Amino acid sequence: MNAYWNPEIETMSRDALTTLQDRRLRTALNHAYTNCKPYRAKMEAAGILPGDINGVEDLWKLPMTHKSDLRDSYPYGMFAVPMGDVVRIHASSGTTGKQTVVGYTAQDIAVWGECMARCLTMAGATKDDIVHVSYGYGLFTGGLGGHIGGETIGAATIPASTGNTKRQLQMFSDFGSTVLLCTPSYAMHLGDAVLEEGIRDQLKLRIGLFGAEPWTEEMRGEIESRLGVRAHDIYGLSEVMGPGVSCDCPERKGLHVMEDHFLVEIVDPHTGKPLPDGVPGELVFTCVTKEALPLIRYNTRDICTIDRSPCACGRNLTRMGKITGRTDDMLIIRGVNVFPSQVESVLLGVAGVAPYYRLVVDRINNLDALEIQVEMTEGLFSDEERRIESTVRRIEKDVLSMLGISAKITLVSHGTIERFEGKAKRVLDRRTP
Ligand SMILES: [Zn+2]
Repeated sequence: MNAYWNPEIETMSRDALTTLQDRRLRTALNHAYTNCKPYRAKMEAAGILPGDINGVEDLWKLPMTHKSDLRDSYPYGMFAVPMGDVVRIHASSGTTGKQTVVGYTAQDIAVWGECMARCLTMAGATKDDIVHVSYGYGLFTGGLGGHIGGETIGAATIPASTGNTKRQLQMFSDFGSTVLLCTPSYAMHLGDAVLEEGIRDQLKLRIGLFGAEPWTEEMRGEIESRLGVRAHDIYGLSEVMGPGVSCDCPERKGLHVMEDHFLVEIVDPHTGKPLPDGVPGELVFTCVTKEALPLIRYNTRDICTIDRSPCACGRNLTRMGKITGRTDDMLIIRGVNVFPSQVESVLLGVAGVAPYYRLVVDRINNLDALEIQVEMTEGLFSDEERRIESTVRRIEKDVLSMLGISAKITLVSHGTIERFEGKAKRVLDRRTP
């Protein structure tokens, strides 16, 4: 089945889409320049006026926006409408400093509903589904973002939120949930609980949309086998909107970006210069329809590639590859760039270990040391020492060939690595800067 929520936009020709984007970009720049002081200052400092930008081909001329710009204008300094027109506030906590506060007008919320409806439809959900939202409800955009998508397509939507895994399972079976939205790490946790309780046969789950943290293709397979769903990757961030900025279609060869609202670029992490399609770099978005919080060339620090070729699903919307990491999450160990997702993909290829792991980075005798703690399956735990030893050697070898650096592998018993209901925290960096 290949359904579209908004076929006119989703299958629009590239030329027609570019014309629409050009027009919307000019309007968005005028709005930002006129109504948002920090943008006016940025553009003036760069010697650029809105009139200098004709369309998408001039995008690279504009200065970039960073998370620090939002933090520096905490809480409402970058809002471009009177507070009387703002109907919703969300915020995301960073690892350092103040929260990043974002605002929405009624129109911004309507756009969110539209984008989420496209994602759910893309993944195969309809109004007859029962949409179970196990993202956290609150300042985090996951819960209410998933929620508005379910309601927009007309599905019965359950605001389950996170936590209380036993009750989540009870709801799965009693309420007949068919579509699940949560973080991939929580999906894994729920899947393990389903297997432990032996209730997989009672579940009607068929589709999952998982996002808010990077995850691998290997993890997709693990989640699908535990929950019996077809798992889709959904992407978003609160600064841009929340979940629904992009989602993968039935082809699952990249996530289609809702390009009539969000222009997408990839830039070199070191120089900030645009990179050709297919080359990995930092993902940058420009929101062309946002009212409350305009966002021009926002650098997400997420790393991926983009592909503008048409997709077999019939959509012409640009696809972004799976996020392979964030520049912020990137560890530099002995001078080598290391992303937790690389380690995850190694671990998921090894029999006898479960996809629960933690990276501990330390500095010993002035040298960076990486330890990877990973859980054994119960089968391996009860196995003879020789097999455990050979599993450790195998992981050491695979990690070395993937990362180019050696790591100490510590196998720990089943259930000892902390489980997360929201975004997983997989790195403990003990080095002092
Ligand atoms: Zn597609």
